[in-house]
Amino acid sequence: MAHYSASQIKTFSLCARKWHLDKWSSVPTPPAGAGAELGRAVHADIESFLLQKTSSLNDIAEPGREFLTWLRDRPSLLVEHNINSDGVVGVIDAYSDGVVVDHKTSSDPEKWGLTSTQLESDLQMTIYAAWAFRKEPDRQEITLVHAYYGTKRQSFKLVKAKVSRERIERQYQSALAFVKKNMAHLSTSEINSFEIAGDASACGAYGGCGYLNICNPNQGAQTMPTLEELIAKRKTPTAEVVAPEAPSRETPPAPDAPESPPLEMALDMQLAVDQILTQRPSTTRMATQIAKTAMKARRWTKNRSQELVAASGGRFRFDDLGSVIYADSPVPAAPPAPAKTSSTSAGGLTLYINCVPVKGATGSTFGDYLVDAIKAYPINPQLADYGKGIADIVAAVEPPQSGVVLVDTLNPYWARASQRWIAAAGLVIRGL
Ligand code: SF4
Repeated sequence: MAHYSASQIKTFSLCARKWHLDKWSSVPTPPAGAGAELGRAVHADIESFLLQKTSSLNDIAEPGREFLTWLRDRPSLLVEHNINSDGVVGVIDAYSDGVVVDHKTSSDPEKWGLTSTQLESDLQMTIYAAWAFRKEPDRQEITLVHAYYGTKRQSFKLVKAKVSRERIERQYQSALAFVKKNMAHLSTSEINSFEIAGDASACGAYGGCGYLNICNPNQGAQTMPTLEELIAKRKTPTAEVVAPEAPSRETPPAPDAPESPPLEMALDMQLAVDQILTQRPSTTRMATQIAKTAMKARRWTKNRSQELVAASGGRFRFDDLGSVIYADSPVPAAPPAPAKTSSTSAGGLTLYINCVPVKGATGSTFGDYLVDAIKAYPINPQLADYGKGIADIVAAVEPPQSGVVLVDTLNPYWARASQRWIAAAGLVIRGL
């Protein structure tokens, strides 16, 4: 039986081909970076401190001494505990009496650490909490803790969140459904990894994919979606509105239906709706603000907001300009109104950032330009000085002088390219 961990599911969401290469191919796994090695060393030190009650801690773990001392005195403490249920596996750093702790090393915990709200819906912590609730059937609430240890300069930060049994069960079932629907049928070494669609926009994430020297992201049974396909995806029928209280269920895909959305999109949609609805905003303005904040925090793009509208049971709808607003009285979800601005470019470059032209226009994605630049790059980017390959590729991506380009800001290259592209554009249209 195949087993899945939170990191596998996240890798799959990033690039399904990378996940398959990691788990199911005979291609050697690229070595972990120095950061992963450092993390392992810090975890080993903390484990000795907690289990063998040693007194020393290395420089990185030392700022957490007070917290770790509190932790090791807690009842029935489990450390580095392996879990395995429903085919989902993981190692819980520490668990005791309703508290799940995960130790994280980070170059800058203030900058990269999760917020408490993000922690509530974190996939890894959801899996751990689901295990804890099964272990203790009478418990109704669990505290999730991320303990961050700064690696660039000594620092320590705790982020906590309380989560209910009901919420965790819902998130956990969403994750299981995603695995069953998207990953299970690919979990075999009989499939050639390169027949699975690669995602060029993921090649530069987290310091660069270790398979870039053997992988052409634009080659395989499926290639990057065209603008028309992206637009078609956004036109996926959303007529059936599921009431927030209704049990989740899977709808069989319609013939020729587009691929189901990536995990983070599916999970985030449900979680953001839950979050918005459970906060019971008292005014329209407050509700709209919560919706926008939730989407921003989860880096939603325009098409995700269509799913929010569909899943919110009529609590949210699109206004005349296509923005999501809160409906005082639930109304059936309606499709977005046509954009006010022209969707074609009459000379000059038009950038659609996190949105697509509702009708008419054709064009390319920023990813298309990236793929060309990656292919034209004179050497393997992995062989360039650390980070330099990416910088050079971004520099090589010339904005076109005219036409329509669709940009998804989740693309890890976009942050570096955005200034130049926006300056080159005659018209910039932004989604949420
Ligand atoms: S190089 Fe890019 S497309 Fe290929 S596996 Fe890595 S992330 Fe996916």
